Amino acid sequence: MRISRLACLAGTWCLAVQGCGGTAFDLPPVSDREALLAAQELDADPDLPLFHRSNSQYRETIGRLERQLTGRIAAICARAGTEECRFTVRYVDEDEVNAHVDENAQIYLYRGLLEYLETDEEIAAVMAHEMSHQIAGHVDESTRSVLLGAILGGLLMGGVAAAGGADNATANDAAGMGMNYGGRIGLLTFSKEQEREADLLAAYVLARAGIDLQRAGRLFEVLAKLDGKALSGFKDTHPAGPERIVAWRKAVAEVEASVDKLPAMSKP
Ligand SMILES: [Zn+2]
Repeated sequence: MRISRLACLAGTWCLAVQGCGGTAFDLPPVSDREALLAAQELDADPDLPLFHRSNSQYRETIGRLERQLTGRIAAICARAGTEECRFTVRYVDEDEVNAHVDENAQIYLYRGLLEYLETDEEIAAVMAHEMSHQIAGHVDESTRSVLLGAILGGLLMGGVAAAGGADNATANDAAGMGMNYGGRIGLLTFSKEQEREADLLAAYVLARAGIDLQRAGRLFEVLAKLDGKALSGFKDTHPAGPERIVAWRKAVAEVEASVDKLPAMSKP
């Protein structure tokens, strides 16, 4: 987040690499009052305990949940109009509090995050959320942002160096730095709406797989509490908070009332 703000101060090109607005699916509205009440609930219960499992237990759990989730996911991919409906989930034995999906539909779950999760349902919710970024096309949009950011960053930094009278080698170095810099900023471009959309789709993915949504929902309380701590990259890519908790609860109500267990597309 700090990098992004600095970049915005440095020039206007960063605007071009921010995520685009609009979502494909209808998102439940959240009022300020609802978010405030959820914030008060969090304040009343600030505990954030750890739940350790062994590496082999995490790997076994993740493999089992991956099969459970992907076995029933095809109808949601079809509704979203995506042909990319295959996922590989990898466990990362590192302290980092993180989870993410890459452009090859590979999902990475870090031990540092998993240790805050108590139940299999919460772990399944993280997986379903990351799968949903892919299903909703966010990864493609983000990848385009990274490329665009890299190109614009390279042009800007190289151009600045050349205009300042730098020799070719220096200008090329500057262009390379700019591409790197621009690309990193592009990585931070899952918007709040995209996060909310991934949560909504995740509720459908979980329901179809027979996962208890009420138990899964504790994930969002954990994320909101983690958001108040100084943690690495995860905060930049996964903004969390009381608003997200309320949106999740509404998503659960929507899924439970849904006859076909498929999310509604937004009206154009
Ligand atoms: Zn996300």
